Amino acid sequence: MSSATDSRSPRNLVVVPRRDLSFDFVNTLAWRGSAPTESLHSIGELLGWMVSSKAMTERAATELSNWFAAHPAQGVTVFGAAIESREMIYRLLRSIASDSPPAREDLRRLNRALGEAGSRQILDRADKGFGWRIEAKTTVAGILAPMLWSTADILVSPDAARVRQCANDRCLWLFRDDSKNGTRRWCSMQACGNRAKAHRHYLRQKAQ
Ligand SMILES: [Zn+2]
Repeated sequence: MSSATDSRSPRNLVVVPRRDLSFDFVNTLAWRGSAPTESLHSIGELLGWMVSSKAMTERAATELSNWFAAHPAQGVTVFGAAIESREMIYRLLRSIASDSPPAREDLRRLNRALGEAGSRQILDRADKGFGWRIEAKTTVAGILAPMLWSTADILVSPDAARVRQCANDRCLWLFRDDSKNGTRRWCSMQACGNRAKAHRHYLRQKAQ
């Protein structure tokens, strides 16, 4: 492929706002309460993550990657803004998890980004299912559209009452509590629940 072809503006994209996508997005920064571990370091990694999270088709991500490869400065700017948006989404969902009102500024930023992301109007096939066909934009709101929609959908749905923050204060991942009685405390029993159980067991033995 020539560089002229590589830098061609991407065509329409098919994106899929999976219900839990926002949780996965904010959790790309792990161990927020202890030693934060970042899994996204560039626009290429963000697009790759979107493909593996089934938020964007591979073809769409390739077109965007090619465009950013030809416009590296924009790639750096858009990636920085994407991480800022991720943190805005984290703060919004965390406030819901702790039953406290979200910061007005964060809600205002989400609304502005939703406006810039465009609207969901045309369905198209995406892999084996369906997604929304949207105009390709190389802006942060255009790229983050599936995560912005996921966030808005969580906030206005009964899922809002099920947003939780992991009780492991080293972890602090966010998740949707899908337990029957709504009392799930850990992001996962393997990662955090068993560790807490083992720690309680250790403390009990020590006290004896
Ligand atoms: Zn956890």
